[in-house]
Amino acid sequence: MEQVLVLIKPEGLQKAIVGDVFSQFVSSDLKLAGLKLVKASDQLAKAHYALLKDKFFYWQIVEYLTGKFHDGLPVVAMVFEGRGAIAKCRRIAGATNPEEAGPKSVRGKYGRITTKGLFENVVHVSSSTDEARREIALWFRKSELLQ
Ligand code: ADP
Repeated sequence: MEQVLVLIKPEGLQKAIVGDVFSQFVSSDLKLAGLKLVKASDQLAKAHYALLKDKFFYWQIVEYLTGKFHDGLPVVAMVFEGRGAIAKCRRIAGATNPEEAGPKSVRGKYGRITTKGLFENVVHVSSSTDEARREIALWFRKSELLQ
């Protein structure tokens, strides 16, 4: 069955919006297979964004994930499972650029572009089945996921 990694980035806890964001994903028909808080290390954030290392915003997104911009807070890491899980979760998240995201999507509701030009867009959602597999292995042990 298709799995997807969903992260609520550190501003979720800082802005106290984790409850609403979580409920938007969990009220889909997908099964929640994993859930935990993770204080992302520099190493984990770099590995997570390894494919974007040539982008001009790479260092900012690595620091963003580690909580550097949000009081050192952790990420809420989740795995959802089910038919079309990636497309469903990406629809709930909305477009990468929060200004282009639908008004009822998570990023449309809560995202912003910072004065330094970072898309502070609240959630990460894997973009393909290969990426989901790679990312889930970075964030979760097998024993932490429901079978
Ligand atoms: P997504 O998270 O929607 O899959 P990407 O993997 O392309 O998007 O980008 C990773 C993260 O980098 C985004 O979630 C966002 O926080 C940030 N980002 C992406 N594109 C830009 C950009 N053009 N300017 C600033 N930040 C960006």
